This record gives sequence, C-alpha cells and structure tokens, in this order.
Amino acid sequence: MPDAPHVLRVALPLPLPHLFDYRSPAGVAVQPALIGHRVRVPFGNREAQGIVVGTGLAAGDGELRDALQLLDHAPLLSGELLASLRWLAHYLHAPLGEVLATALPAVLRRGEPVPDTTRHGWRLGEAGRTALPGMRMGKPQALAALLQATRAEPWLDAETPGWRASLRQLRDRGLVEHCVLDAMAIAPAPTQPAPILNDEQRLAAEAIRANSGFATFLLDGVTGSGKTEVYLDAIADCLASSRQALVLVPEIGLTPQALARFRARLGVPVHALHSGLTDAARARVWAEAWHGQARVIVGTRSAVFVPLPEAGLIVVDEEHDGSYKQFDGIRYHARDFAIVRARALDVPVVLGSATPSLESLHNARAGRYTHLRLRHRTGNAKPPAVRVLDIRKRPLQAGLSAESMDAIGAALGAGGQVLVFKNRRGYAPVLLCHDCGWSAHCPRCSTPEHATPMTVHGAGRRLQCHHCGTRKAVPMACPDCASLGLQPQGAGTERIEELLTARFSEVPVLRIDRGSTQRRDALQKHFETLGSRPGILVGTQMLAKGHDLPNLTLVVVVGVDEGLYSADFRSAEKLAQLLVQVAGRAGRADKPGQVLVQTHHPDHPLLHTLISGGYHACADAELAQREAAGFPPFAHLALLRAEAKHADPPMQFLQAAKDLLRDAGLDIAGPLPAPMPRRAGYQRAQLVLSSTQRGTLHGALDALVPALYASPDARKLRWSLDVDPVELY
Ligand code: ADP
Ligand code: ZN
Ligand code: ZN
Repeated sequence: MPDAPHVLRVALPLPLPHLFDYRSPAGVAVQPALIGHRVRVPFGNREAQGIVVGTGLAAGDGELRDALQLLDHAPLLSGELLASLRWLAHYLHAPLGEVLATALPAVLRRGEPVPDTTRHGWRLGEAGRTALPGMRMGKPQALAALLQATRAEPWLDAETPGWRASLRQLRDRGLVEHCVLDAMAIAPAPTQPAPILNDEQRLAAEAIRANSGFATFLLDGVTGSGKTEVYLDAIADCLASSRQALVLVPEIGLTPQALARFRARLGVPVHALHSGLTDAARARVWAEAWHGQARVIVGTRSAVFVPLPEAGLIVVDEEHDGSYKQFDGIRYHARDFAIVRARALDVPVVLGSATPSLESLHNARAGRYTHLRLRHRTGNAKPPAVRVLDIRKRPLQAGLSAESMDAIGAALGAGGQVLVFKNRRGYAPVLLCHDCGWSAHCPRCSTPEHATPMTVHGAGRRLQCHHCGTRKAVPMACPDCASLGLQPQGAGTERIEELLTARFSEVPVLRIDRGSTQRRDALQKHFETLGSRPGILVGTQMLAKGHDLPNLTLVVVVGVDEGLYSADFRSAEKLAQLLVQVAGRAGRADKPGQVLVQTHHPDHPLLHTLISGGYHACADAELAQREAAGFPPFAHLALLRAEAKHADPPMQFLQAAKDLLRDAGLDIAGPLPAPMPRRAGYQRAQLVLSSTQRGTLHGALDALVPALYASPDARKLRWSLDVDPVELY
C-alpha cells in the first residue's frame, strides 16, 4: 500500500465542525511553516478561502484535491493568537474556520493582501534648508519652517489644513523631499501632563506596575474616580518597556473625546478600531498591530482579536458592558477572551468599572482577581443625591410627573443641564384602540398566545417592530371596529422630546437614541451643539456613558418598572448598573448633582438597597440570590436555540438533544418555546443546560455538538449554541 500523501489541514469558514485536507498547491512542499497562511481551495464546484491550521498525512481515503494558491508570505495567525483562537473555538464549540474568519478583518477574510503600513511624510531637503532664511513670508515659507523637522502626512492634515497647495510650490522648487517614517515619528509629543495621582489611584497604579506577568485586576471605582488615569499610568509603563497595549471600550465609549484624551497624554500614535471605520482602515490598523508598529490600540469588541506580538498590557474599560458579548455568529465575550489572551501572553489585564459584573466581583472575592477600589470622586465632585419619586396615582405627561417637570425647570433656571433617561425609543410603545381594545402587533413576531407590540414612531404616524424591523403606516381607523379612537399608549423618547420641547422652548432639547444617532460622530455633534449652556438631553442607555457633561446637574429616570419585574435572571444586575451609570453622569465637576427615579414600585427591595447601600450592596444581595437559585456565576450555562417556520421541528430537535444528554449529569430546562416565541416569522425554542462544574458542562457539549452537526433534523432548521449566554432569550 502506498504511503498516505502529505496534506494541508485547512479551516474553512463553514458551519461544519471539521477541517478539510488538501494537497499543497503545485510546487509548494507541505511543511509546518505554512500553518497560519491563508489558502484558496476548491470546494464543491466553487472556491473557498481558509487558513492552514495543520499539516500531516491524509486521514481518510476520500479523493484529495489540490489547494489552488497560498496567499501569504508569512503566517497571518501564529503563536499566541492562533493558539488562543483554537482555545476559543473549542470553548464555544464552534467551527475553527468560522472563529478564525471572525478574528480577521474583512479585507483579509476576502483574500486581499495585508495592507502596506509604511507611513509617509515630508521634510526640508538640503536646498530647502539653504533657501529658507531668504524666503518671503507666507504660507509656503511657514510650511517650509515646519518641515525643518520631519512631519507625517496625517499630522499635516490635522495641524495645517490646506498644506498640499503650499507643498506643491515647495516641491516644484525642489526644496522638500518625500520620506518614509518610522512609526514613532507620527505622533506629536504629549500635550497634556498627567495629573498627580491621588492615594487610591496611586495604590492601584502601583499594584499594576508591580506585576509583569499575567494577573487580572478588577479596578472597581465609582464614576469620576479617575480610573482612566490609572489605565493611562499602566499604559505609559507598558510603553516605557516598548510593549503594546490593547484597550477595549464599549461601543458607545469610543468617542472622539476619549480618543483625544489618550492621544494628548501618551505621545505615541493611538490607533482606534471600531465599526465606524472603512474595511481598509480596519485592515491597516490590524496590520500595524501585526507588525508590532501599533503601540496603543483602542477598540470595541472585535479589537480583542488584534495580533499583539509585543504585548505588555490589556485593559477592558466598563467591563460589565453588554456590548462585549457578540449576539450572533461566533458568540464570544470580548472581556472573557481578553483574560484568556492575557494569560497566554503572560501580561496583566485590568478590568475597570463603576459597576462590575457579578462574575468579576465573584472572581475578585474568590481571590482570582486583585480587587483595586477607588471609592471617591476626584477633586470636589460629590456623589449625586438620589431620590425615588412615587408616581402612583400621579397624573403623568409623556410619562413625566409634575414633580419631575418642576425639578427640570428649576435645574434649567439655575443654568444647569438636564438628562432625561427612558430606555425606550420611538414615540410610544403601544398603539391602542380606545373603543375595542385592539392593539397593533407585529405580524411576524407574534403568536396567538404571545403578542409583540409594534412601537409608534414619527410623531404617531409610523409603526415599527424593534425585533424584526417591520414597518407600517399607522392605520386611519381601528382594523377591528373601524373606530377613529386609536391612541398611542405610554411614552418613548420621541414623545418625551415633544413634550419637553413644547414646555421648555427657550432651551435646546436634544434626543439621543439609536433612531436619532446612527452615526458615530452624531453623538459628539449633539453634545457640541449643546456646549455648556442650559439644555435637555433625552435618551436611551446611549446616554449612560460617553461624553463628559460638567454642567449636568439633574438626571430624571423615567420608568424603571419594566426592569424591576423582568423574568431574565440578569435583569436586576443590569438595572442596577444602568441606574448607577446614568446617575453617575450628574454632578461630575464642581456642581452638585441630583437624580430622580420615577417608579410605581417605590418599595421595591432593589431600589431600596441601591439607594441605601449603593451598587455593591445590591451586588451582594443579587449574588446571594444567584447562588440560591443556581445561576451564574455559581453555575455555568449553555443555551441551545433552534428556530424554524413551524414550531414542531425546533422542539423535536431540542428534545433529541436532551435525550442525548440523559446521562451527562447536567441540569436541563426545556425544550420550551423561547421567551419571545416567534421572531421575524420564525418559531423559536430553547434548551438551557447548566452545571455547577464547568468541566461537566463542556464534557457534555464535546459529545453533543458533533451529534448535532450530524443530525439530519439539523438541516430543517437554524440552530445555535451560546456558551455562557448573557440573556436567556
Ligand atoms: P473615570 O474613568 O473613573 O470615570 P476619569 O479618569 O475620567 O474617571 O476622571 C474623572 C475626571 O477627574 C477627569 O476629568 C480627570 O481628568 C480628572 N482626574 C482624574 N484623576 C485626577 C487626579 N489625580 N487629579 C486631578 N484630576 C483628576
Ligand atoms: Zn377598535
Ligand atoms: Zn417583528
């Protein structure tokens, strides 16, 4: 029998759990050095692109095909990053090819070359230096004077708009030369000195600095306590030893203001990575990190995948934030993966928050994380005074009580700014027929037993489903009884904006939610429009963080009642975090802040604990409940979801999965219709798997998942596995 041929093992971005063997392209020897290279291969009657993740002897005796082409001269994924991604695929029980594709920027996923990261700049040549003293004053002369020191093009764009016209003149006279820059030459020197750290900050910064290898720090500091200064100190230390720092921030936290603060302080280029960049720009930052040129990368969730060949530090700001979890495709958690990477890289990782997740608090208490606390706001800023407003039996206008309106008027009158928070965008959450009780439901997201209301938008003219995007015009008359008495019920941000604009017409009223603020810089623009003059911001949780508003003296929280009685096991934690974060926006500078929380449930224990004991008291109470109920962080969960046009196949598929798990020693809930049993026309069901032992859960998944892929029923529906789900719907 002839020896089995040597092959490349290729991970393809397909929902299939195995690797694919190919012969090397003509003229290329199979060798381990090819691991991490992209490769184009034939797949069925088309072509696909994957990553070589191994080499070896062909396993089966199926027909082998030749790979078409290797795309790289050096491995794109290697060392720690490739190893960590393999770990992630295994942990999530997801196909390695899909995990690797998720980790790469789109340009590289499409097979395009790694972008050239050389940066260009200009400097005065020999002739220029001779000519400069005799030049006439003017723009070309001013530019020539600047170019005595080499300047990068981005620097010129930022500092001397319109420089290209002057440059053309200088170039035509042979006075300047184009040159290649090294990465460090690009950044202007730091323009802002670091403040002197206070005692708490200094202790935290010293603890982080004292550590060179892997350790996890929970930097638990109230809003405005100066956590960012501690990050900056740790980053400066990391840069001083010529290492790279990765800073993860929530989607909404990556504001131009925040970036400017990093840039002004660090004196090296700060690379931003977020969804607002073009594919080309993202690929470029990735390539700069890959080459080790990018020293500081500040990015949102997917930045956790950047290569860090010279890593020194990882920071996860607002580590409790929900935007770190990916909700579809590869359902990774960027904070958790950051810790995995830090361990593999043997560098410290700092998790910062004013409202740490219960997971992180639990880990800190168990001694796995070093708990660093900043208990005080910096300078003269005092914590805001929080008051619960009982609105039972009070007349409400667009959800606002008379007391709230008076407080808003008073705050504006004193020259302050006001933030009105309502976690519901649109005009009203429900459209109701006052005569017969009909209400508008989404036809694609409702079942006979479970109605999903459509939200009223456009000042009462449009209906929109926030789950599937279906839009309709508001009907002229009730479809059931033909009455003209259709009325929007309740209030969303649009309706509150309408009321406040009418009532406080002398000040600007700005609405901030996903409807009004699609673009990344729109939020910033809004804040700039407002400046520091009196005015009102109305918005959803997009307002909970981001831009500093030193003049903000009043926060009104309209309606927390949905959150108080939600069925989701994380709702109390999320509500406490949201309230504390929103409240933390008030009174950040010298002016004292006030927070009003309107509720129909003033005696709810969560509100009580939060106001009397603060976030940590709430977290303690909630941790005790989770422990008693067997929920994370005291148990480990996986959520198996299935959906199809008809309700039966998902239930059957999940029942079969449950049967396979009979002897696995797990707690299993379901199969049951999902809390939202139908979405966008699909019937949804779920199975919740849980165990107090992570190993037991993962052992069971190791056996289950291949069987799910192989199951003929799986082809009749869509299914997904969410390891460590954040929400159970
Ligand atoms: P956090 O990230 O905890 O919300 P920041 O780092 O943004 O807090 O700090 C809040 C404000 O206090 C910022 O304006 C910051 O410049 C200022 N600040 C922080 N630390 C100090 C310090 N040690 N001395 C003076 N000002 C400080
Ligand atoms: Zn009716
Ligand atoms: Zn819908």
